[in-house]
Amino acid sequence: MTLLKIAIQKSGRLNEGSLKLLKDCGISVENGGDKLKARANGFDLEVIFLRNSDIPHYVEDGVVHLGIVGENVLVESESKVRILEKLGFSRCRLALAVPKEVDYNDINWLNGKQIATSYPKATEAFLIENNLTASLHLISGSVEISPALGLADAVCDLVSSGNTLFSNGLKEVAVLMRSEAVLIQGEINDLQVKQLVQQLQFRIQSVLNARNFKYVLLNCPVSKIDKMNAILPGMKSPSIIPLVDKNWVSLHSVIQENDFWNVIDALKAEGAEGILIVPIEKMVY
Ligand code: ATP
Ligand code: MG
Repeated sequence: MTLLKIAIQKSGRLNEGSLKLLKDCGISVENGGDKLKARANGFDLEVIFLRNSDIPHYVEDGVVHLGIVGENVLVESESKVRILEKLGFSRCRLALAVPKEVDYNDINWLNGKQIATSYPKATEAFLIENNLTASLHLISGSVEISPALGLADAVCDLVSSGNTLFSNGLKEVAVLMRSEAVLIQGEINDLQVKQLVQQLQFRIQSVLNARNFKYVLLNCPVSKIDKMNAILPGMKSPSIIPLVDKNWVSLHSVIQENDFWNVIDALKAEGAEGILIVPIEKMVY
């Protein structure tokens, strides 16, 4: 039997989100301690646990068919893989930061300085793009303490909340790139494998769509149906369900997480009552 092979991070920031995504796709995996690989339940899938930074190479070489990695490692690995989906978790940015007392006006401040980073390719690209000459100090971890130790003038590191920078007396001065977890694939020729990729991708898309939407139910006077319809985006248009009270109806629709509160506020302002918001498990187009 053909098995699809997917590499996910063994441990670290992507591990939990990757396993959760598979779980939401109906695929369970035992993340067995120091096991290198595991046969999944619920899909013809083998999960290989690797280091984030190694995954693009394994995918490129065809050792595994798919991988879940941080988008930023694709820049560093310079491997030829294709992004199939952006997965919406492990969102972060690669940011340049300097000690907070530094009088930093613009990027030209960096000329002739030392920048500590674990992400040399992205940092170099930024320097070249901006015609800057700075030297890179390659460090594999705890980059944020290097200015305090006198190892560097600035750092280029991944940030999500910015708390780590702040607690190390650094301020963020530029964003080089944004990153999130992505599903990648290499070249696949086997037809059966291609089919499995499509099936998995379809499940993933259904899960991601559902995560972005909420199901909304509300009551409104019959006279307000058109107004509510104009506010509710929906997949097609809202469903109308009659109530015992002939002057009122119940409207059902889906709304996007992004403009969630704006829509709710607008509905309330038009006289919607008893608004219920329900999570959606899967959304199939
Ligand atoms: P490995 O040690 O497995 O090679 P790594 O050192 O890249 O991997 P992590 O620090 O777990 O491992 O980061 C994995 C990915 O998570 C990064 O490539 C990035 O996309 C994302 N990430 C890194 N830092 C953050 C952060 N502060 N917030 C959110 N996501 C982050
Ligand atoms: Mg690491």
